[in-house]
Amino acid sequence: MPKRSWAEPFKIKMVELLKMTTPKQRKTAIKNAGYNTFLLKSEDVYIDLLTDSGTSAMSDRQWAGMMLGDEAYAGSKNFYNLEKAVHKYYGFKYVIPTHQGRGAENLLSQVMIKKGDIVPGNMYFTTTRLHQEMAGGTFYDIIIDEAHDSTHQHQFKGNVDINKLEALVKKYGADKIPYVCVATTVNMAGGQPISMQNLRELRAYTRHHGIKIMLDMTRIAENAYFIQQREEGFRRRSIASIVKEICDHTDGATFSGKKDALVNIGGFLALNDESKFEEASNLVVVYEGLHTYGGLAGRDMEAMAIGIEESVNEDHIRARIGQVEYLGEKLLDMHVPIVTPIGGHGIFIDARQFLPHLKQIQFPAQALAAEIYEDSGVRTMERGIVSAGRNSKTGDHYYPALELVRLTIPRRVYTQAHMDVISESVERVYSKRNKIKGLEMVYEPTYLRFFQAKFKKLQ
Ligand SMILES: *Cc1c(COP(=O)(O)O)cnc(C)c1O
Repeated sequence: MPKRSWAEPFKIKMVELLKMTTPKQRKTAIKNAGYNTFLLKSEDVYIDLLTDSGTSAMSDRQWAGMMLGDEAYAGSKNFYNLEKAVHKYYGFKYVIPTHQGRGAENLLSQVMIKKGDIVPGNMYFTTTRLHQEMAGGTFYDIIIDEAHDSTHQHQFKGNVDINKLEALVKKYGADKIPYVCVATTVNMAGGQPISMQNLRELRAYTRHHGIKIMLDMTRIAENAYFIQQREEGFRRRSIASIVKEICDHTDGATFSGKKDALVNIGGFLALNDESKFEEASNLVVVYEGLHTYGGLAGRDMEAMAIGIEESVNEDHIRARIGQVEYLGEKLLDMHVPIVTPIGGHGIFIDARQFLPHLKQIQFPAQALAAEIYEDSGVRTMERGIVSAGRNSKTGDHYYPALELVRLTIPRRVYTQAHMDVISESVERVYSKRNKIKGLEMVYEPTYLRFFQAKFKKLQ
């Protein structure tokens, strides 16, 4: 059958001009940034794949929504529109807006976790785990083993290993486990989805033990797309109905609107339990603002409500993931080692395989991200030992199995020609990989060190 290509279901009506830099300028810029791409000036970046968080392009409908901001301190009509969207697409009973996902993680952790509690999850996420720990909990990774293998072809590498959960229940008792944190998709595993079957089984197991399930539902539409494409029995189901079913198997969620929901800022906490909701809506006043704005302007809530609706559109999600797959296939054709199956929000280069001559403590993924920037002005980020941080009890580095460079694709922002430029740059760096040197960390902040750490090149 002749091929039918995906293409963007939109046209461009406004553009942002970019500055082009010279190799010499980039060499200086990355050195001054301590070889940390988070410390580069955005001005010095040509194609920005640092993150898909808050970097997507809003639609004309969302921009029109921004003009309808009701900036009342309390009871803004935009809040009620957001609430309506959450009810309609996710089905949760109660919603509290927050300035972004981690604001919701803070509230959830504070109201659910007691000191000494265990919080299992399908792989850690940086801010999520930190909030769990700050609330006195200990995170345990219960993702399936295949997730730690960058080329294992399991179609749902985000799945929970229920045996690992069972072992925790046996060891600590179910009453020490307030909830299981389930991410859709699993960012740190390379944007890998969880299957509906796994979620249904997890629901049955946790219900039996009186354990709740809280979703980290930041990229739920992307997860739903993989379920639709890969899981038996979902081919004819709409993205919206799959999204809704995922939520139906859970008790609440933290949401960063900056990913799937196509806004530059915003998030929320959603809950079904009334008393936990009351507790959280009291706490939000301390950290974010009144429970009907949670640190957001009315216009931000309006844009997020519209973005939620656009995020479950079939053509949108097909083109979004189609673009990510286009870039991934190109890199695979060049034999660049990447995490496969290709994930939802970006391409993850396996830096261990790319730079086998570097030890993990020489920060291979950090070094590779710096090298790609220097080559072309393409900004990527590290997802390896730097992101993993240190064990808060022993002070030792975590040594994660996955040492990755993430090429995160913002939604509706870059063109296919940009994808070509990116893959050519990675190919050039790959051809000179033997010459790439490791790094030494010369400044290490206490929390979430990957954001602000500084490095120097090893000689
Ligand atoms: C981005 C992200 C968060 C945190 O959301 P912010 O809006 O950045 O605070 C939580 N979990 C996952 C999986 C994320 O990707």
